[in-house]
Amino acid sequence: MSFSTLGLSEPLLKAVADEGYSAPSPIQAQAIPAVLEGRDVMAAAQTGTGKTAGFTLPLLHGLSRGQPAKANQVRALVLTPTRELAAQVAESVETYGKYLNLRSAVVFGGVKINPQMMRLRKGVDILIATPGRLLDLYQQNAMSFQKLEVLILDEADRMLDMGFIHDIKRILKALPQKRQNLMFSATFSEDIRDLAKTIVSNPVEISVTPRNSTAVSVTQWIHPVDKNQKRHLLVELINQHKWEQVLVFSRTKRGANRLAEFLEKKDIQAAAIHGNKSQGARTRALSEFKSGKLRVLVATDIAARGLDIEQLPQVVNLDLPEVAQDYVHRIGRTGRAGATGQAISLVSADEAQLLQDIERLIQTLLPRELVEGYEPENKLPELALRPPAKPKKPKKPKAQRHAGSYVDGSKSSDKDSRRPPTSGDPWKRRRSHNKAR
Ligand code: AMP
Repeated sequence: MSFSTLGLSEPLLKAVADEGYSAPSPIQAQAIPAVLEGRDVMAAAQTGTGKTAGFTLPLLHGLSRGQPAKANQVRALVLTPTRELAAQVAESVETYGKYLNLRSAVVFGGVKINPQMMRLRKGVDILIATPGRLLDLYQQNAMSFQKLEVLILDEADRMLDMGFIHDIKRILKALPQKRQNLMFSATFSEDIRDLAKTIVSNPVEISVTPRNSTAVSVTQWIHPVDKNQKRHLLVELINQHKWEQVLVFSRTKRGANRLAEFLEKKDIQAAAIHGNKSQGARTRALSEFKSGKLRVLVATDIAARGLDIEQLPQVVNLDLPEVAQDYVHRIGRTGRAGATGQAISLVSADEAQLLQDIERLIQTLLPRELVEGYEPENKLPELALRPPAKPKKPKKPKAQRHAGSYVDGSKSSDKDSRRPPTSGDPWKRRRSHNKAR
């Protein structure tokens, strides 16, 4: 399938061609026609599936056909949970809309509000916003939603995780009843479905990644290691494999800072990115990482959510997340858009329970590999794969719950057993350059 069959206008097809995309991703192939038809959409899609273009392209198409926004008006609102994601969506709007004459703005907290108010004064066709700052601006009459045509909720599950539900409800009250609604979420839990009922009507439902499965193009394994040896092992891995760009996850902000300092002392350029850092420091660290100035970006889960760094080959979990679902989000940072990646977790004995939670969630025993010189004194217990925990009545293990999920990890000593089955997906990116966006 090619982009030209989807019904998008020439200026959009040209912008897509400039990006070097040869074919629409599965979510794009399904979402674009539905959005162009004016339908509401509810899509289960993780970052890395091409979901942003999946809603941005038809949105731009529709808006470019109507009346431009007048003073203070907003015609389309994209809500995102984090500033980073907001900035990335805004960048996509610019990229795909570069041959159109639409105005867009992005607003989030942590930076001055006045320039944002000024920008909104003239009216914008597309506003990308995090919920808190949007409400601040709305309360100060910075914009009017009377002419709002489309609402998009991106990463709705994360918005609920981050406690934005009340903000979202307040925002919904300010919007006109008649509008098109698009909702994107990595998972569709009961909470999300409840929220969806209040937003979308008769939606086209799209699912491109099985619930709770990890991306098929990501090769995953763990290195059992003692806690106090983790950062030394990380340095060893970086040097030994000559990794040029690695995203490291730390459970805590303090741990992220300490690791970045430690790496710098070992002559490995690194920076930490987390909620206590100013917006300026976070943006700087991200752009230095993208430009190759930094080899290592150490991030906490919330800060890393939605980071769009193309073809990131390595993700390392310095420690496992408390919430198993975050493991899936973390490793979604690699192997994106058809590229393959490696997700490596350094796991100490005290994390056995967290590991078990993750393995149950993804229904995969992660292969283990000991690194010479770093064999742990505190052994990581062998774990068995059981179905995801249910409160009562344990049931028989199910072999493979999700089509396409990576379930082949049980032959731990065989390196090839780490290789997940190839998806056979015809969506392959054609870009030869490694442009980081
Ligand atoms: P997203 O899931 O929206 O975060 O997109 C992930 C990455 O895929 C982004 O870096 C996009 O530039 C890239 N991408 C989006 N659509 C396509 C496509 N049709 N072909 C190749 N790459 C794409």
